[in-house]
Amino acid sequence: MKSDVPPRVVLKFGGTSVSSRRGWDTISDLVTARVEAGQRILIVHSALAGVTDLLDRLPDEALTGRHAAPLDRLSEQHFQLGADLGLDGPAVLGDEIAEIRKATDGVALLEEVTPRIRARILAFGERLSTRIGAAFLLSAHHRVEWLDAGSLLRAVQTGRQTGSSVWLSAECDSDLEPSVRTRLDALEGVGLTQGFTARTEKGEPVVLGRGGSDTAAAYLAGKWGADWLEIWSDVPGMFSADPRLVPTARLLRRLNYYEAQEITTTGSQVVHPRAIRALRDSGIPIELKSTMDRGSPNTMIESIGTTGPAQVKAISWKGKIVLVSMDTLGMWQEVGFLARAFAVFKDEGISIDLVSTSESNVTVSLDSKATLLDEEKLAAVRDGLSPLCRVQIIQPCAAVSLVGSRIREILHRMGPVMAAFEGHRIHLVSQAASDLNFTVVVDEEGVDRLVRRLHDLLIPQSTESDVFGPSWEELSTVGTG
Ligand code: ASP
Ligand code: MG
Repeated sequence: MKSDVPPRVVLKFGGTSVSSRRGWDTISDLVTARVEAGQRILIVHSALAGVTDLLDRLPDEALTGRHAAPLDRLSEQHFQLGADLGLDGPAVLGDEIAEIRKATDGVALLEEVTPRIRARILAFGERLSTRIGAAFLLSAHHRVEWLDAGSLLRAVQTGRQTGSSVWLSAECDSDLEPSVRTRLDALEGVGLTQGFTARTEKGEPVVLGRGGSDTAAAYLAGKWGADWLEIWSDVPGMFSADPRLVPTARLLRRLNYYEAQEITTTGSQVVHPRAIRALRDSGIPIELKSTMDRGSPNTMIESIGTTGPAQVKAISWKGKIVLVSMDTLGMWQEVGFLARAFAVFKDEGISIDLVSTSESNVTVSLDSKATLLDEEKLAAVRDGLSPLCRVQIIQPCAAVSLVGSRIREILHRMGPVMAAFEGHRIHLVSQAASDLNFTVVVDEEGVDRLVRRLHDLLIPQSTESDVFGPSWEELSTVGTG
């Protein structure tokens, strides 16, 4: 058991949770309960729903002088929420809105936009929402201090970022930082800050990539040395499959960081994979919670080793996958073929997901959601590769992954499972060396049937255990109310 030092807890809320009066009432109740329980809390939250999308388009609209209408919509949405919360929106947000207008007018005037300016404009979403959030909690008689995330999170150069990602997909570290700990420990009340953003050495705003509020919250949990991080959304956690396809999908009660990361990178979007990675080394637990049903059973991500049984825990899938199949006999005993072929993808700025190789064929999968893969881009890849091999581009495909622990040990039991693939064209099979997933790429058509079938075969349907909780169906009938 922990000593009687008050626990340090980071609570992260997403766009849907902070866009309505109902959401803010829930947050206010939670703050009351946590303060009564003697916890020190830091709230990290996103922009209002839809705002980051709007800000993402704004610079391009400004380039052609079409920015007035979206800017009006932006103020309107925030003033409306302000009014619902009993606040004077223009008084709370006037300065911030004037600044966004200035930045956007600048783009229109200069007819130029850089990634640096895009990041600056994107960062406004969380500035606006947290200003309202802090004002509301104050009006509800909580002791709250608004903190600028830029003064807590400094971006680091990892070598992973090139070009615009320095500004738009920045990274920080999550090591304990004494100055952050001292500052947050000294707060009289609750701290509240923006997700999604950080600053460079020079103090310029950067953003952490789409969905990056989870990541910001994880970095802050690490820097503060929090006892745990809670990520609140409208679902209580991760499931053994996408509940929209498989209503009998089971809630996953406990996952280690590696399994959770694997499930998020292969499909589920409940938490950003970078947030999980950020806390893996420190072992700070991540608890997923639902604002719709606060007492619901949920998912915990923590260090639990790999001592459990070898087991498939989830069937995830990703659509819109593009395969590039490269055939050549010349590859046999040839030195450097892969290096030359992969350089073509690198030069086009395309990230490769899965690779399968034999002596005469190499097939790679590309995630068209992660990189924009239009016809032009694919034609460039084809041109770059054709001197080296025969190229075939296959799409749209879907990657279906069986995720769990020690998958290799259960491959011999996969016989009946393999039968589920009958009638589906299998393009690529890959089994991660990490022993966490077994992935099959098939045509996208009919993938929903396949996922349901695999789930029926691999995930136990009855008895709750340490790993499998209630099903989505069961939770939805209990959870409403
Ligand atoms: N507001 C940002 C986005 O929509 C970050 C987040 O919500 O996680 O991507
Ligand atoms: Mg999110």
